Amino acid sequence: MKELKQLEEMSNRYGADARYVLAGGGNTSYKTDTTLYVKGSGTSLATIKAEDFVRLDREKLGAMWKVNYSENEAERESQVLADMMAARATGETRRPSVETLLHDLFRGKFVLHVHPSAVNAMTCAKMGKTIAEKLFPESVWVDACRPGYILASICRDKLNAYKAKTGKDACLLFLQNHGVFFAGDSTEEIDGLVSEMMNKLDEYALAARKAARENLCVWLKELTETGYSEFLDGGDVASFDPDFNSPTPDHIVYCKANYLTVDSSVTKDRLTKKVQIFKIENEYYPRVVIIRGEGAVVLGADEKQLTTVRDVFLDQVKVFHASHNYGGYFGMSDDLVDFIVNWEVESYRAKISSGK
Ligand SMILES: [Zn+2]
Repeated sequence: MKELKQLEEMSNRYGADARYVLAGGGNTSYKTDTTLYVKGSGTSLATIKAEDFVRLDREKLGAMWKVNYSENEAERESQVLADMMAARATGETRRPSVETLLHDLFRGKFVLHVHPSAVNAMTCAKMGKTIAEKLFPESVWVDACRPGYILASICRDKLNAYKAKTGKDACLLFLQNHGVFFAGDSTEEIDGLVSEMMNKLDEYALAARKAARENLCVWLKELTETGYSEFLDGGDVASFDPDFNSPTPDHIVYCKANYLTVDSSVTKDRLTKKVQIFKIENEYYPRVVIIRGEGAVVLGADEKQLTTVRDVFLDQVKVFHASHNYGGYFGMSDDLVDFIVNWEVESYRAKISSGK
């Protein structure tokens, strides 16, 4: 059957692509009016062949929705498994995927189910559902629940509700804390849905990151009473470890001895508190704020100071990383740091009192 060849090709292609499938996860299927062909349990998408798909009788699968299964979870799941095994086509001996019932629910002939990190970034996020509804109005969202019959039955209700509301069959289904299902009448249709989703998510994530960074720059400028801020992005800055003491006195003079560290997802309230505590502990506002794993924000009262802080901090990052070629980083001692900090304060007071 040419459709099974197409299913094989689609399965192998997504199965071999780490953006979609890791460690043998994910599954695919094709259905006619009477038969469902689904990936077997224990087979891998990357290498599956047309003849490997497990055949099930769709009428028998459909009849499972009319059965009253036990209220007891373990008992119910074993009854469901027994019925699913009994729903296999005549002569079929292999074990179908545990997600077989879900595959059968979709009207689309081809179904692709995968767990891509780009999609799970959304299905495993606080705002995931809201954003999914906005970006993919033609999708169905299902809240996390234990896998098995109950999950399949919730998906069935949601898909039916979607159909009742829109008059259309859903071709996308997000499972919170799990992954995504794509359904279509051809593998080309599925490819179209997949690339459209990946593009939309890429675009959205990029814009969201940009907005978060802009917010951080604006908030920090306001909270530290400085006029200028800049986000420094990049591998070396992102992997800089601020827990070590400064390398030289100059770095302390221009960037100060201590940096504030925050996560990029920090809220304005939390950031306000962190800046206040930093100010109390250090008696100055931070000039460098490390955004954990992403980069840093540098701050200055004017453009000139901003440029100096940025250049001196980037110099520190270079020194820090390149010192590993010489046996590892060796910062100034606590004692020396304290001396420089106090000497800085003293010379500042002297300047003030002499009126310069
Ligand atoms: Zn799955």
